[in-house]
Amino acid sequence: MDKKALVVFSGGQDSTTCLFWAKQQFDEVKAIGFDYGQRHRSELEAARNIAELADVPYKLIEVDIFRKITHNALTSSDMEVEEQKPDNRPPNTLVEGRNMIFLTYAAIYAKSLGIRSLVTGVGQADYSGYPDCRNEFIRSLNQTLNLSMDYEYTIHTPLMWKSKRDIWELSDQLGVLDLVRTQTVTCYNGIPGDGCGHCPSCQLRRKGLESYLANK
Ligand code: ZN
Repeated sequence: MDKKALVVFSGGQDSTTCLFWAKQQFDEVKAIGFDYGQRHRSELEAARNIAELADVPYKLIEVDIFRKITHNALTSSDMEVEEQKPDNRPPNTLVEGRNMIFLTYAAIYAKSLGIRSLVTGVGQADYSGYPDCRNEFIRSLNQTLNLSMDYEYTIHTPLMWKSKRDIWELSDQLGVLDLVRTQTVTCYNGIPGDGCGHCPSCQLRRKGLESYLANK
């Protein structure tokens, strides 16, 4: 493995766990985050704080297109987050194309820094119906980025096959379970730490934590 990595970092549970995983795996770690017009600014604040706690340089990029060309519950203030997961389509929190755009910008930035390893917290174990979290997509994009910039990238996805329970376990092994629990924002209502408790993201997170703490 080469020595430098760039982590796609949002200040949530998954990408924060990835940030500390990367610090363990690489000599030099940088982080990139995106202001894409998300309704809850607390996420951006959390990212800045955690990067500082982790002593990782953090670059925030503005990506202002999603709310102009798509409609979803994370960037549109007139759409509420669905409390129940729909059966026949992805949840309305899906931001179409988000991971492709983020990883593409991350790759451009990484190349300018001489970095080949990209780290992202996407995963398909607790698959929420987001097509751009699937392994097949990540492998395909990796190849496309290599061709696009004539540069050998490796997209690392340490959480790809991990359940929320396993992700809590990893953060514990990395010595940051408490930090992840109190400092991150994964709640769709933007409430840090244990969150609102009832949105789908809080439910998934809490179930995983309870399961991990019960059998640790
Ligand atoms: Zn919540």
